[in-house]
Amino acid sequence: MKQPLRSFSRRHFLLTAGVSAGAALMKGCSLNPPSPSSLSPKAQALELGSAQMPEVPGIKLGYIAIVESAPLIIAQEKGFFARHGMSQVQIAKQASWGAARDNIEIGSAGGGIDGGQWQMPMPHLISEGLITKGNRKIPMVVLAQLCTHGNGIAIAKKHIGKGIGLDLTQGGAQYIKDLAAAGTKFKAAYTFPKVNQDFWIRYWLAAGGVDPNKDVDLLAVPASQTVANMRTETMDGFSTGDPWPYRIVRDKIGYLAVLNAQVWQDHPEEYLALRRDWIEKHPKATKALLKAVMEAQMWCDDPKNRDEMVQILAQRKYFNVPTQFLRAPYEGEYFLGDQLTKIVDPKVRTMYWKDNKASVSYPYQSHELWFLTESVRWGFQPPEILGEADRIIKSVNGEKYWKEAAMELAAVNNQITVKDIPQSTSRGIEKFFDGAEFDPSKPKAYLDSLKIKAIKA
Ligand code: CA
Repeated sequence: MKQPLRSFSRRHFLLTAGVSAGAALMKGCSLNPPSPSSLSPKAQALELGSAQMPEVPGIKLGYIAIVESAPLIIAQEKGFFARHGMSQVQIAKQASWGAARDNIEIGSAGGGIDGGQWQMPMPHLISEGLITKGNRKIPMVVLAQLCTHGNGIAIAKKHIGKGIGLDLTQGGAQYIKDLAAAGTKFKAAYTFPKVNQDFWIRYWLAAGGVDPNKDVDLLAVPASQTVANMRTETMDGFSTGDPWPYRIVRDKIGYLAVLNAQVWQDHPEEYLALRRDWIEKHPKATKALLKAVMEAQMWCDDPKNRDEMVQILAQRKYFNVPTQFLRAPYEGEYFLGDQLTKIVDPKVRTMYWKDNKASVSYPYQSHELWFLTESVRWGFQPPEILGEADRIIKSVNGEKYWKEAAMELAAVNNQITVKDIPQSTSRGIEKFFDGAEFDPSKPKAYLDSLKIKAIKA
């Protein structure tokens, strides 16, 4: 369902965009997240036999305050960790992705973390020692995908009316190239290099005819600093996740040009991954954690829990935002494009357990292959890794833990049945908005089909 919200002018945009929430925010007094008042009861603890009893009752997990982390926060707050014998889990907010990487290097024994939420392919890059100090290899295991959707590209308001939307071939690409020719190159940020949000903006730019390595400057900048820079017009774009896009629109800093859900519906987003040494010492605790996260994912997707989920996540200790910044994206409500066209489409909302196609939670190996293939496309990793992709993926992908945990969960939770356990490690051919297709059995053919890339494939 589409409905034009209002006729557009730059002045009108400045005057009216999100006037209620935005105006309140400008006074600086609306950042009073609620203390949840009417919470439903927590999950009941299970009576665990010795086969299920975790070796330890705790673990320290890192998270970033964006919607991807909801299953970890909900598993904690609604008692799902405790239900499966993990009553002493700590979830620790990470200041940045770089901090999460530093904390996994030292592990909880050194004051860091044992695992948590990751952009892909961070677990691969850490396992292979590509982003760690001294290139130390720290083997990790990907246990589950945390969510799909909830991410998009925000554009600073000074570019309103220049054709920067989903399809850049309609004027936006030329405008961006003209900026480069004039010596004012379009500058856009993501939060960590060579992972999800870097890939999302690159895919979209290249599909529209913009070469992300030549026509724009892309760089890693912390989220809050990016938003401050967009406000002062020294940053042009931001590839990011909710609640940041909503905040940018409501705070009248810019607009949401594109949702990643439009570029690739039901795309892989962020993942739960732990250090392999922790998993090998604690296989039953690993499955207990997974069962708790799966139940939290089901809980998050249930519309009857949405108000409570929003109340929990909005709290100061978690996302520290007004509840309306979260409620709208969870309904699939966005103000899209520089006309601020309101869309309400449940198909594009953030989903945690099941999406429009299949399982969200199951970590498909075919999706990890896509991230590795894009890493080759942009020259982040050498083309030879595609010859080794199977080894790299199988050394990190923990789908066997996911399946075992799902089977155990099906015995105590009738919301999951054997049907919910994917039969294949591949989700099959993936289709993108520009007509491109990724056949996981032919990654080279996908690379060959792409016009803009950093390598000669
Ligand atoms: Ca993300």
